[in-house]
Amino acid sequence: MDLISTASWKSAWRGYEYFKQGKVKAFVQTDKSHFRGFVSGSGPEPYDVTIDIEHPKRSKCNCAFASGKYLVCKHMVALFFAAYPEEAEIYIAEVECQQQEAEEYQEKIYDLAEKRIRKMTKAEAQQALYEMVFDAPDWMFERFVRDWVENDRDQ
Ligand SMILES: [Zn+2]
Repeated sequence: MDLISTASWKSAWRGYEYFKQGKVKAFVQTDKSHFRGFVSGSGPEPYDVTIDIEHPKRSKCNCAFASGKYLVCKHMVALFFAAYPEEAEIYIAEVECQQQEAEEYQEKIYDLAEKRIRKMTKAEAQQALYEMVFDAPDWMFERFVRDWVENDRDQ
């Protein structure tokens, strides 16, 4: 999993998609820690990709993102998953687990916020509102003015 953790979140996710879409056209293991393969991308020619499992930053790809740099690109990730499909299963299970945790956290925090708002005294609510309205981005302040200041003036 080291190559995956070396990649950015975005490269790991795009690499997973590339692997699933069958963009790894061919690959061979060249020695204990190296794989070389061809991964199709946006251009007409597939990219020539070599991954180093022991030293992921020494992996090579001739795409614009990674060429000449010590970066793990989506093509390297796709090749890694082609070589180790069980790692792709682990990766997607972790991503799904993180998403579920994030959703659960979000639900819980909404629930707590709603409960807290219900329990607020008028002074607390006004204080919170003052802070929000005067720290808010312009659109929020304008909405407050539209909904609560101008309407009030019309009455
Ligand atoms: Zn690449």
